[in-house]
Amino acid sequence: MAGARLNKLIDFTAKNRLCGLEKLRDIPATVGGAVVMNAGAFGSTISEHITTVCTMKNGKLHSYSKEECGFGYRKSRFLGKKEVVVSADFRLESCEKEMVIAGIRTYAEERRRIQPYGKCCGSVFKNPLNDHAGRLIDAAGLKGYTLGGACISDKHANFIMNNKNASASDVYSLIQYIKDTVRDRFGITLSEEVEYLGEF
Ligand SMILES: Cc1cc2nc3c(=O)[nH]c(=O)nc-3n(C[C@H](O)[C@H](O)[C@H](O)COP(=O)(O)OP(=O)(O)OC[C@H]3O[C@@H](n4cnc5c(N)ncnc54)[C@H](O)[C@@H]3O)c2cc1C
Repeated sequence: MAGARLNKLIDFTAKNRLCGLEKLRDIPATVGGAVVMNAGAFGSTISEHITTVCTMKNGKLHSYSKEECGFGYRKSRFLGKKEVVVSADFRLESCEKEMVIAGIRTYAEERRRIQPYGKCCGSVFKNPLNDHAGRLIDAAGLKGYTLGGACISDKHANFIMNNKNASASDVYSLIQYIKDTVRDRFGITLSEEVEYLGEF
């Protein structure tokens, strides 16, 4: 069901000797949010394992095949629409429980190794085609750059850390600064993975 935590679903797959979702371990998400965003990590996305998605719109249930869901890089047809994802069906491979647990551990450790720990909203920008937002921000010399209470992580440049009570406007201004700098330096316009709520 859409309200289940993604990690809970992944633990459930391990208990039931089903593999496929291990790379998504520790993405902070509900199943519904992960489906809508087509969450992914380490080259794998949740949509790869989905067969159908059930939604509610205007009080009526709808069922969509995977092909009808409009999945793309961090998007689906449900993003920004007044349609609530209620549940999703997955097709997973049968395998040894130990193998699933080992996969979960490996990717969770890798996540801890490459991503910062602390107050942040995850990856700020989508990766442009054939490149990585973090690499471009790093190459622009912005690692550690601070604006108000918001700071570009030293560990991974696509993360903005709230180390000192940053306001939403600190984070927003820093995002604009990064976009301007990367555009001036490399002629590439980064686009946000994060969504803005409220007025900026
Ligand atoms: C530290 C950190 C690390 C992260 N790492 C990753 C990562 O590796 N990969 C990745 O893809 N993302 C990552 N994210 C981003 C985030 O976890 C994903 O975008 C996730 O899919 C959001 O799920 P959520 O349930 O919190 O949804 P929300 O953030 O609450 O919502 C996301 C969007 O989906 C909509 N939505 C949510 N639930 C439903 C529903 N049931 N029906 C209809 N619309 C709905 C919301 O309105 C919103 O537009 C990370 C975030 C953080 C903070």
